[in-house]
Amino acid sequence: MTTVKAAIDSMIQSRTVDTGVVSGLSRQIIAQMNTLQTSILLNFESLPGIASTGGSHLNLYLQAGAKESLRAALKAGIAQQPNLKMTVSSAYRTVAQQHILYQVYRRDPKLIPLAAKPGNSNHEDGLAIDVSNHQAWKPYLLAHGWQWLGANDPVHFFENNGRDDVGNLGVKAFQSLWNKYHPNDLMTVDGNFGDQTAAKMDRCPIAGFSRVTSFQMGDTGSIINRIQQSLTNVGYPTPVTGSFDRLTKEAVIKFQTKKGLGADGVVGPMTLKALGIRL
Ligand SMILES: [Zn+2]
Repeated sequence: MTTVKAAIDSMIQSRTVDTGVVSGLSRQIIAQMNTLQTSILLNFESLPGIASTGGSHLNLYLQAGAKESLRAALKAGIAQQPNLKMTVSSAYRTVAQQHILYQVYRRDPKLIPLAAKPGNSNHEDGLAIDVSNHQAWKPYLLAHGWQWLGANDPVHFFENNGRDDVGNLGVKAFQSLWNKYHPNDLMTVDGNFGDQTAAKMDRCPIAGFSRVTSFQMGDTGSIINRIQQSLTNVGYPTPVTGSFDRLTKEAVIKFQTKKGLGADGVVGPMTLKALGIRL
């Protein structure tokens, strides 16, 4: 398993930065964001006129308002030049990708001269795109709600039609995703990318998390509440505390014995299924 930290170390060593290495983790973060806030990020890959540069770092997502402004700009451009395509080289950036850029910038500013703190880039708000053929598209983008910051970053366009707290939502999504897979090592879900969150990000697998399917004494979290509630519902009254304690273990053993499961007091996939719990 390659961790985010190991990937950053190897990028600094090889002097090549590729935020596409965390595409698995990024996909999970985007899915979690759309769970926390329904349809906050919309895919725009299928808009007529879009031709991305490809690459696993690319997440072609925008907020709804920005997506509509992009649709209008594309339509106007194609009306003038039917064969014109917009080559997008960067769009939505997950907190995992921004963490990589920020860490590389801090450790080797020659490699990345400037990067915003995770949670603070407007690529993390789903309101920015980088357009390789920016000269061709600039007039149409500017006419349809997009802004250009200038020649220092000529590919970068942003749109203000949307929420500006989506960067924080991305941090929250990462924090709650972490908690889902680490019931024994919970962190505060506050949308603030501090040292603790950064340290946990470093430990994440770049391919994304694998499902935890076993819970035992000492574990805590919302899944434990569900296990305790289910045990109570099926006739093994257990205080719903969110903490897998001795009482919970005893109830699990009784339930497993009754169901003919291995009575080890550990709630694994079979016991979860018998309790009617889907993760
Ligand atoms: Zn940009």
